[in-house]
This record gives sequence, C-alpha cells and structure tokens, in this order.
Amino acid sequence: MEYHDLGKTGIRVSRLCFGSLTVAPMQKNLSLKKSREIMAAALDAGVNFFDTADLYNNYAHLRQVLEMKPDAVICTKSYDYSAEGVAKSLNKALKQLGRDYIDIYMLHEQENRLTFKGHWEAIEYLMKMKKKGVIRAFGISTHRVEGVTDSCDFPEIEVVFPIVNRTGIGIEDGGREEMEDALSEAKKAGKGIMGMKPLGGGNLLSQVDACFDYVLGLPQLDSIALGMQSVEEVCYNTARFEGRPIDAALAQKVAQLPRRLHISDWCEGCGRCVARCGQHALSLVDGKAQVDYSRCLTCCYCATVCPMFCIKVI
Ligand code: SF4
Ligand code: SF4
Repeated sequence: MEYHDLGKTGIRVSRLCFGSLTVAPMQKNLSLKKSREIMAAALDAGVNFFDTADLYNNYAHLRQVLEMKPDAVICTKSYDYSAEGVAKSLNKALKQLGRDYIDIYMLHEQENRLTFKGHWEAIEYLMKMKKKGVIRAFGISTHRVEGVTDSCDFPEIEVVFPIVNRTGIGIEDGGREEMEDALSEAKKAGKGIMGMKPLGGGNLLSQVDACFDYVLGLPQLDSIALGMQSVEEVCYNTARFEGRPIDAALAQKVAQLPRRLHISDWCEGCGRCVARCGQHALSLVDGKAQVDYSRCLTCCYCATVCPMFCIKVI
C-alpha cells in the first residue's frame, strides 16, 4: 500500500481510504460483526485511513477499527454552522468512537467562500479545539470546484475532500478538467487532498478499470475514498491500488455482488429522474423518488439528471 503525507497536516495516510457510508444504516446496514470482518481485512491490507460522518450514524462500526488499530486515521464531518452545534457533534464523535481526539474534522458539503463564512462560528470553535489537540486537522468536503479553489484562500482549511471521477459525474459546477485544475491549485497551496466518488457513487461500475486508472493517475490525490461492503471488494480494491493483477475469480465475484439503486433521503422530488427513466421504474411518492426494483435495470441513466446527486448504485 502506498502512503502519502496529507498536505501539511503531519498525518500520513494510505492512498486507499475506507469509505464507511456503505456499511452504515443509510446504505447496506451491515451488522457490527460483518463490518468488523471487512474493516479488519482492510487493516490487514495496509489501509490506515477511514472516512465517516455524523450523518452516517456508524461510529460504533468505526470504534471497532480503533480497537484493532488504535492509531488508525479517522476523518469525520458534520453540517453544523454554530459553535454550540459543532461542539455537540464533535463530543458525540469523541464519545462514540471512544477516543480523545479526531484526526480530521470536516464541515460537510461546503459550496464556496460564502458557505465557509456562513459556518465561521463553527470553524472558530474547531480552531480552538485544534489548539487543544482535540482535532489534528480541519477540512471540508465539497461537490463543487469552487469549494476547492476558494479553500486556497483559507489557511484554516488544511484538507479538501471533493468529488473526483473520470466523467465528472456529481460535480455541480464544472467537469473533470475544471476539477483537475482546482486540485492542482489546492495542491500548490499545500492542502491535503482526498478524492470521493471515484466510481461516481456506483454509477460508473461498467467502466471500473478506466475509473481506477483515472484516479490512481492523478498525482494531486493523496488518498481516495472508496465504499466497501465485502472482504472481496477490499481484496479487489487493494490489489488495484497496489497495481497487482486481479485474480479472475475475484473479479467475477466482485462483479456479481448484488447491486441496487439507492435514493438518498435528501431527494427534493423534482421528478427529473422519473422523466428520464425509460423503464418506468421511478415514481414520486410523498414528494420523493421511489424505485420499482422489478423494473430497474441499474443502467444509472436517471443518476445523470439528478441535480442533488442522490441516486447511487450500492
Ligand atoms: S432527480 Fe434527484 S432530486 Fe429529483 S426526484 Fe429524482 S432523485 Fe429526487
Ligand atoms: S437505473 Fe435505469 S432503469 Fe433504474 S431507475 Fe434509473 S434509469 Fe430507470
């Protein structure tokens, strides 16, 4: 496994970061026993970096990682904008993870300098916590190119975590080229850079090799977060990251893992996906999109028109 220094944070991370949303109640809802087995396989393969969020409600799963490897690097995030709110979220993370510090604490889904300023009370509180050693580094996650470029003007932001994939799916204000330029700018500014959604939230699984080649070939990325839901996926992904040949039986097993469409609960019911689906597998129920799995081909066409990036295959 390759390891990179995460910008100027002094934190060294594996290039493969375990994205833990997949095991969380919002997605696969795996048992603690099952997720422990998967995370143990990742640790065995040299992964030392695990990403989570307040929203994922899975700190109990991550606590198991710390039982197995007390110095594993944990990144978590919250949507809080007030000092009081972020203090509550940070304390929840510390308590539920059973640790007296968080390696990287982020504000979730930041758009640009205006949202940074709108969250300034939370950021000031986190800076105080950094001085006390309660967090080691502060960062932002973003779906926008301007989230990355604007972070360059804020020394408080040490780590950026944007969407990066070969088609640019999910990037709200540009394509892959604009994101690559933004990553280069952030790298020059000394930011640690993590990439999210390298497989477009599951929507690019039909071009998995090209997707891996693309993100692994981006020198700007210190680490790339990938959701993993089975030991086979851990083996497949670690082999891919280490440039090892993939056993044909393993590739077949991973390709055959059950996949289904998942619509996140932040769907705003705009109906664009319903109009796009030629299989008539989607409808609006109580103001949110709902899938008829008997009709869904998991072709992912609907995901390309969702302005909220809430359709994924998991
Ligand atoms: S396009 Fe996205 S936001 Fe609009 S209804 Fe479909 S899932 Fe919801
Ligand atoms: S994945 Fe394809 S078939 Fe399934 S709901 Fe979306 S557009 Fe329709």
